[in-house]
Amino acid sequence: MQLSVEIEKHSGFCGGVINAIGKAEKFLSGGHKLYSLGLIVHNEGELERLHRKGLETIYNAEQLSADTETVLIRAHGEPPETYSKLKSLGVNVIDCTCPVVLRLQRRIKETYSKIHPIGGQIVIFGKIGHAEVLGLVGQVGSDALVIENMNMLSKALESGALDLKRPIAIFSQTTKSPDEYKDICSVLKSRIEEVTGQEPIQDGSLEIHETICSQVAFRHEELAEFAASHDVIIFVSGASSSNGKVLFNLCQSRNPRSHHISSPDEILPEWFHDGDHVGICGATSTPRWLLEETSNAIGSL
Ligand code: SF4
Repeated sequence: MQLSVEIEKHSGFCGGVINAIGKAEKFLSGGHKLYSLGLIVHNEGELERLHRKGLETIYNAEQLSADTETVLIRAHGEPPETYSKLKSLGVNVIDCTCPVVLRLQRRIKETYSKIHPIGGQIVIFGKIGHAEVLGLVGQVGSDALVIENMNMLSKALESGALDLKRPIAIFSQTTKSPDEYKDICSVLKSRIEEVTGQEPIQDGSLEIHETICSQVAFRHEELAEFAASHDVIIFVSGASSSNGKVLFNLCQSRNPRSHHISSPDEILPEWFHDGDHVGICGATSTPRWLLEETSNAIGSL
């Protein structure tokens, strides 16, 4: 089959993941044992590669054994309790929290200390239970409302879980969709206006914090164009990657012939027609080597 194949030039690990994996590999090269608290990256192939080098994954501090010396905190970050726990256990910590996430954690904490005393509420647009979100709500002792989508915002308004007469500060998880966040903020703003009759940004009763990672926001724009300009899109990401789900949905909305795979052996020849221009792209957790393997597999169809 004659196919031309192009890998999207910005697809591959983001800066936060590159930093975490780089630090892990450097430490492992010294022959030491290293435990990652949670998956260092949501990509099965990359996890397997790092596991072969000696990286073990544990899912909570309770799983630490007596001989655990060093624990890696991944780019998603952790709530303050995790640091306390690790300190009490006396283990070394390699902290790979992404600087962008760290800034967001600090911003939430500072905003909370400012608005909580006047009855304000913190809202986080993010995935409930996601590691980054747990780290964010941990900054305010879990006194934050997490909403995953517009439907959850509507329910929070109906039930009174979100009170429009009190000040609100909204933040987004770093990897969410910029368009969805914009829509949620815009609905929130108009609903406050309806209830209070005031413009909430100007009078300070609504603070909208632009906290989506610029690497993610930029990727959304590029990917939308890339998906629309190819006949078929092969999107590669781990099944549990939250950023992968968001970016794949974006590709599908621009190109109905988009297919999600976790590894090249999931590719089906019937997805392609002779002469197709095929685009390959991935999430912030997709290694470049996997995109290249995917390209080689399609090239040999
Ligand atoms: S997506 Fe952005 S904020 Fe999240 S780890 Fe990567 S660089 Fe950091």
